[in-house]
Amino acid sequence: MILGLASGNVYTFFEPKDHNKILELLQPLYSKYHLQALELTYSDVNDFDLPLTTENIAFLRQLKHVSVHFPFKIIIHNNEQINTLLKKAGQLCQQINAQFLIIHPEQIPSLDLIQKFQEKYHLNIVTEIENPKIFPLSEFDRFLKKSQIKFVFDTGHAEFHPPAEIKKFLETHQHLICEVHLNKVKNKKAHAQFFNQQLSFTFNHINILNVPMIIEELFEKENFSQLESEINFLQTQLE
Ligand SMILES: [Zn+2]
Repeated sequence: MILGLASGNVYTFFEPKDHNKILELLQPLYSKYHLQALELTYSDVNDFDLPLTTENIAFLRQLKHVSVHFPFKIIIHNNEQINTLLKKAGQLCQQINAQFLIIHPEQIPSLDLIQKFQEKYHLNIVTEIENPKIFPLSEFDRFLKKSQIKFVFDTGHAEFHPPAEIKKFLETHQHLICEVHLNKVKNKKAHAQFFNQQLSFTFNHINILNVPMIIEELFEKENFSQLESEINFLQTQLE
């Protein structure tokens, strides 16, 4: 099992946000827990403007699995803006040898544009299951059929759907899952921790999946040690 962390776990720690500092903070956990995957959570468009250091690029390139999350705090309707951002994302993916770029389905304005960038940057673009309020499962199913792209199964986002629907959806779409985002819903919000809580119904579906597992939760700076507890806990659960 390939387990790793999203930089988003700790992205509130540095103000302004600094992916170089985030990677330096996370690296000791990689050797201690033999983690092999990392997802760069680029939540804002400005995240692309800070170049990664040579050391951090080298660190990312030796991992088994690296992915990049496309900024999700914006909805882009302007082709020029998405072109610029996709170009930056494509260059970053090449630089760090990322396996794929994740773009939320509601942010993909045109499948032709996606196709163009996949070819130009030899880039693999994938999408992610969303909260039903943002992208209902029936619509997501149509989107996957039309786009022929793979998707990330986010255990938190999926928890907002009825359990029977998720079970059925996984039976028919399991072959399209390329990565799992591990997190839980707490107080009606996704990206909470599992540790010290009950596992979710969505968690029970992922043990059969042979794809990289990325912890994508939110930690507070003063409780950074909770991230270690969570890694320990999930490593035991996923054995
Ligand atoms: Zn996610």
